[in-house]
Amino acid sequence: MRVVMKFGGTSVGSADAIRRVAEIVAESRREHEVVVVVSAMNAPDLRTTDTLIAAARAAAQGDGDATALVVPRLLDLHMRAAAALTSAEECARLEPELRAMLDYMSDLSRSIAVLGELTPRALDLFSGLGERLNARLIAATLRSAGLPAEAVDASALIITDERYGSAAPLLEETRTHSRERLLPMLTQGIVPVVTGFIGATRAGVPTTLGRGGSDYSCAILGAVLDADEVWFWKEVDGVLTANPKLVPEARTLPRLSYSEMAELAYYGANVLHPKTVLPLVQRHIPIRIRNTFNPGHPGTLISDEPGSGTAKAVTAIKDVCLITVGGPGMLGITGVAARIFSAVARAGANILLISQASSEQSVCLAVPRAEAAGAVAELRKELASEFSAHDVEHIEVQDPVVIVALVGSGMRGTPGIAGRLFGAMGEAGVNVIAIAQGSTENNISLVVADADADRAVRVIHGSFAL
Ligand code: ASP
Ligand code: MG
Repeated sequence: MRVVMKFGGTSVGSADAIRRVAEIVAESRREHEVVVVVSAMNAPDLRTTDTLIAAARAAAQGDGDATALVVPRLLDLHMRAAAALTSAEECARLEPELRAMLDYMSDLSRSIAVLGELTPRALDLFSGLGERLNARLIAATLRSAGLPAEAVDASALIITDERYGSAAPLLEETRTHSRERLLPMLTQGIVPVVTGFIGATRAGVPTTLGRGGSDYSCAILGAVLDADEVWFWKEVDGVLTANPKLVPEARTLPRLSYSEMAELAYYGANVLHPKTVLPLVQRHIPIRIRNTFNPGHPGTLISDEPGSGTAKAVTAIKDVCLITVGGPGMLGITGVAARIFSAVARAGANILLISQASSEQSVCLAVPRAEAAGAVAELRKELASEFSAHDVEHIEVQDPVVIVALVGSGMRGTPGIAGRLFGAMGEAGVNVIAIAQGSTENNISLVVADADADRAVRVIHGSFAL
């Protein structure tokens, strides 16, 4: 099977971690064709990407030596790992290569200091350097362990638009370039070690896919290479039934459907971002989340198939504000909902949940707390004439509140889930402020007071024996 696998920054954050990565790659390569995608080294005391971005910003403020100061630290971080992981020969070859790349940045940052300006285009050149350093280190590590491997800069593979800082891939061109470059390597038994996060425009100007973009790189490559599976190696065993900090007995879900994953991500669970993995979802390529630090664990398999179980996981989004627009005259005013939502959109607030009873006396919507004041101001403006006619009497704000969501596609068509959910809330003495369930039935959301949220999550987890 062809597997594209990505290792995140912490999974490649130290010599020890990289040693595990090399073992995992070697082991996987015994059975599969493997393409590796790597993030920049995220060491506890030196976060490569953050450090590079900070140096570039300092240069723009006139500090032309900022990069020169971080160059030795970054070189040391990578070369200390290399000394522990690679043969003397590889190490000797790597040092001048990495040094030249870092020195180039240092020169560039002096020019930025002179110009006093850092364009998004120049910033992408800086921020993507960590991946380029690390791909070389990891390829050298694999070769030193006897595995043919080669570092590949994704700027030769992933062709993007020109939105520097959050570029989007042009999939057809990316497909052509990636296959031309990587498939012959696979045929020859070479493991490509590809930089995450970066790409380049058609004209060859370097871009980045946005912070945390290595997941996206991996999904893009998995899709264009027609991978059989794509594995994301992280620092957790997979997707959990709840936040383990709140629910110590939370466990790893063996299977999840794409849409369940999307619901969980939307409601604040720490899983892959749905937009990130869209190229895989569109091609129905199964995804696995696995733990670099516990490779024996099978992790979570995410695919079209939801697997067994009705309700699967419970999540919470905190720092939410509930806005209720109500009044006796709202009944039957057509277009009032549209106007409410447009007003909120004009304020740039993101609506997390909507609820309206059929009595039409009120509409309530939840938005992130930071976006609430703007939304309320726009609503007052929009509904000014209804206010003076007393058709709308109040715009009430409740905060902070928390949205607690129970997710699982097996809830669809299964009676009694809501009953059990609200029964549990009643027994636990948790007051439910608002409720929403879409007709896809793969999510029931409750709004509760901030003080009740942790208890609600625990009680739900317990009563559904998640
Ligand atoms: N190194 C990049 C970042 O820190 C990309 C990634 O880690 O996914 O944002
Ligand atoms: Mg990262």
